[in-house]
Amino acid sequence: MVSSSNLGFPRMSANRELKKLVEAYWAGKVDHQALVDGAKELRALHWKIQKDAGIEFIPSNDYSLYDHVLDHLFVFGAIPSRYANIPSSTDKYFAMGRGLQRPAEGIDVPAMEMKKWFDTNYHYIVGEFSPATKFHLQDTKPVDQYLEAKALGIQTRPVILGPVSFLALGKESSDAPAGFDRMSLLDSLLPVYVELLTKLQAAGAEWVQVDEPILALDRPAEYKAYFAKAYTTITAAAPQLKFFLASYFGRYSSNLDFVADLPIHAIHIDAVRAPGDVDIVVSRVQGKTLKVSVGVVNGRNIWKNNLAQSIETVKRVIAAVGSDRVIVAPSCSLLHTPHSLASEKKMDAQIKNWMAFSVEKLHEIVTIVKAITAPGSVDAILAENAHAHELRKTSPLIHNPEVQAELKAIVPENFRRQSKFEVRAQKQQQKLNLPLYPTTTVGSFPQTKEVRVARQKFKKGETTLAQYNEFINSEIQKAVKFQEEVGLDMLVHGEFERNDMVEYFGENLKGYVFSEYGWVQSYGSRCVKPPIIFGDVSRPYAMTVETSVYAQSLTKLPMKGMLTGPVTMLQWSFVRDDQPRSETTYQIALALRKEVSDLAKAGIPAIQIDEPAIREGLPLLKEDQDAYLDWAVKSFLLATTDVPDETQIHTHMCYSDFNDIFPAIQALDADCITIENSKSDLKLLRAFEKYGYTNGIGPGLYDIHSPRVPPADEMKSRLNAINKYIKTNLLWVNPDCGLKTRGWTETEAALRNMCEVAKQARSAP
Ligand code: GLN
Ligand code: ZN
Repeated sequence: MVSSSNLGFPRMSANRELKKLVEAYWAGKVDHQALVDGAKELRALHWKIQKDAGIEFIPSNDYSLYDHVLDHLFVFGAIPSRYANIPSSTDKYFAMGRGLQRPAEGIDVPAMEMKKWFDTNYHYIVGEFSPATKFHLQDTKPVDQYLEAKALGIQTRPVILGPVSFLALGKESSDAPAGFDRMSLLDSLLPVYVELLTKLQAAGAEWVQVDEPILALDRPAEYKAYFAKAYTTITAAAPQLKFFLASYFGRYSSNLDFVADLPIHAIHIDAVRAPGDVDIVVSRVQGKTLKVSVGVVNGRNIWKNNLAQSIETVKRVIAAVGSDRVIVAPSCSLLHTPHSLASEKKMDAQIKNWMAFSVEKLHEIVTIVKAITAPGSVDAILAENAHAHELRKTSPLIHNPEVQAELKAIVPENFRRQSKFEVRAQKQQQKLNLPLYPTTTVGSFPQTKEVRVARQKFKKGETTLAQYNEFINSEIQKAVKFQEEVGLDMLVHGEFERNDMVEYFGENLKGYVFSEYGWVQSYGSRCVKPPIIFGDVSRPYAMTVETSVYAQSLTKLPMKGMLTGPVTMLQWSFVRDDQPRSETTYQIALALRKEVSDLAKAGIPAIQIDEPAIREGLPLLKEDQDAYLDWAVKSFLLATTDVPDETQIHTHMCYSDFNDIFPAIQALDADCITIENSKSDLKLLRAFEKYGYTNGIGPGLYDIHSPRVPPADEMKSRLNAINKYIKTNLLWVNPDCGLKTRGWTETEAALRNMCEVAKQARSAP
């Protein structure tokens, strides 16, 4: 019979209980036992939710106090030596994730590197491997948690990260000899996997879910050999265990050639991201016995599943391989969707009726199974689901004919500035008369406690809009005066009115809705609550013009308008799934285009449109990347080109490695791009030089993630180094990113040093 399965459940729980628990432990407010007990309770609750929903294959070991990749590093003893003298193993574990400073005990260790988990907004801890890495099973978390569930009467399928992904997702440690390849550790790693799997088998596990998400990436041919060796070894060592191999977030592509021949017992398909894989995998496994897990329920989004369509897909697989070989599942772990819709009390009921969070998704999976195994038993649910989809197709809340007409009216000229950069630069210089090495900042100034309290009071209705605006204006006044005093050349208003660069615009645009509890883990205890784009996006009124005009009225120096770009607005939200992402982005771009144009008309001489997320939207497979970059660049151009040559367009990017997308960055045709650079060893600038980037560029002179004030000399030598790669007439001087997480004292000291360095550079012979 076809069965139901889950691949992983969100860890935070309904009200971010896990976050509160670990943060209380870090703060010394609860002890170790309370941490252990609290997490155990949450796991029990989550298993029960899954069991009560009727899920047959329930995962265990998907739970983590910080990150599942860190868990594996810990379990396999891959702990860098700098953490060796931390006595408590729990403290050691958290130190790897977030660093630890205990001066009295002589402990001061930074965290391990964190990286984005594929194209999600979840970050994992990057393993460090060298010839000195000696794997051993130093912790039995996967077995313990399997037994924990078993004691509650719940048979689970432990989830482990597969050995090939475990190594591939790490990096060579800095002390590894040149030419060392971490994949060469596979031979010494496999015995530890064998030991773990043997223990799971002995504990009574029937299935184990082995995640190998690197199968969704372009991989060199030698991976085939790693997979063959790894899976022959581990399956032979635990012959009673059945192996469920899961990749997600994309297609298997050519990897399927060897994956289907591995000695595994089930293979999972992300049928949302890779619908085409369903038929390909099915035909590839004909004549074999392995089961096919069809991931039809989207684990990356918050929309109701189209149950009729999913049932169709599952039936097609059943027809090909027989119902005993089919499993219904989410497309990936539900880690990337919020806990449950049940807590959402304020959301518009119609919009809420189009959504499903994790708990609701479990019910969808079970409904799909029941519709097939007991026809007629879930008819009412299916009818309701069909009705919700019908409403969504036609609802005037979603569909705005005006926006659609505007989209259709876009012509190629809408993606171009009037003149090319050299011409614009001259006109802008005539107007702005900036010195060489012009200094500026990236946008935000410290969001102090007073700023946050003022906003909360206003949101709670304790102060009036007029009072709140007055407060914001006084902050802007202070910021403008401050910038004049420290000697900046191009000013910003400081973003005091913004809680978050995406949320602020989402709250002002039509087509967005906000949840109260829709939190998703980003890293460690940190969660984000992405805005939800449910309908056609439009701009009901000018959003920033008044503020920017006010800020400009306070100074003779040029003021930079400040907006968030269309791709970042998309990337950091949950996006509607009833039209291509590109179309939604164009809608946002059209709304921003009006804002940019209005700012220019109101006399704002420079406008910055931040796109920090443009790189992270890049598809995982090379063959899909050009199409994405094409619409991403066009969206930026659509947003920014309805201005005269004299208006200077800035953009800003951070936390990314742009080396592979230079042509796209050039194509944005911004008059100035400020980038995070101070930590990247000039590697990035060498690449800009090599590529021959032609427009203005402001490589960050100092890191804003730390309260440390960089001495002038340090910034001076950095600027000298930068100057070797970037022509002086293109160069801007600025910090790495916005200053909202900093305090005023260090901000002042750092910016004074920075402006001083620019002044000296101007007067140097
Ligand atoms: N303008 C934004 C700020 O300064 C940019 C933030 C970002 O790049 N993440 O806060
Ligand atoms: Zn930034």
